[in-house]
Amino acid sequence: MMWYVVSIVFGALVGSFLNVCILRLPQQESILWPGSHCPHCKHPIKFYDNVPVISYILLRRRCRHCHSPISFQYPLVEGITAIGSLILFMKFGSSLSYLFYFSFVCALIVITVIDLYHQIIPDVISLPGIGVGVLASLIIPQINLFNSLIGILLGGGGLFLVATVYQWLFKREGMGGGDVKLLAMIGAFLGWKAVILTILSGSLIGSITGIIIMVLKGKDFKYAIPFGPFLSLGAVISLFYQNEIIIWYLQHKG
Ligand SMILES: [Zn+2]
Repeated sequence: MMWYVVSIVFGALVGSFLNVCILRLPQQESILWPGSHCPHCKHPIKFYDNVPVISYILLRRRCRHCHSPISFQYPLVEGITAIGSLILFMKFGSSLSYLFYFSFVCALIVITVIDLYHQIIPDVISLPGIGVGVLASLIIPQINLFNSLIGILLGGGGLFLVATVYQWLFKREGMGGGDVKLLAMIGAFLGWKAVILTILSGSLIGSITGIIIMVLKGKDFKYAIPFGPFLSLGAVISLFYQNEIIIWYLQHKG
């Protein structure tokens, strides 16, 4: 029980760091220096005002100094990272698998939020992510090197399929090189079956979301919907349910 609490607290603290990455990586700023500061008045944030989720509530969503509103993104990312840490800990226990999959999920969270804001997927996350995924395949029992390498090839090559589907659905080119590298990273961590499942589930959820947005905002809606968040969501589904989905499919195909 106590370890569950530790995994939540650890997740929330890491989530706080992910917020720094989300803010600074697109600006090409250092993520380590200087310390956290208010994006409006630049006032440094003291450690007691930087407690994940709790400070946001105690400060009533405002900077202590300039009273500018604090984005809901901060507690949201901290909360999701904390929950992700707990769920992974419950699945993998205190193991290297937990650490590798947690860092994988953290990368997906940062990529998702940056892609939503800026429509880019930073190479500085996805490319080292491919390397970490290969390293994981050498160490953890859930995946082997061969599966990881085929996953990278399929993820990179899967661009053609995804680009075709996306263009057909949204009538515009929406795929970038960032999505390819993200898929390659997903393949490195989860293997080639998960790449297929990620493309299918990501496209499905993405097209449902696209249709809902078009209905709500009208057909002339021109905002390009970034694909990275849907691929990330598909990857999380694959991480937890790929075996169940594949077994279900094999039982129902004939
Ligand atoms: Zn401020």
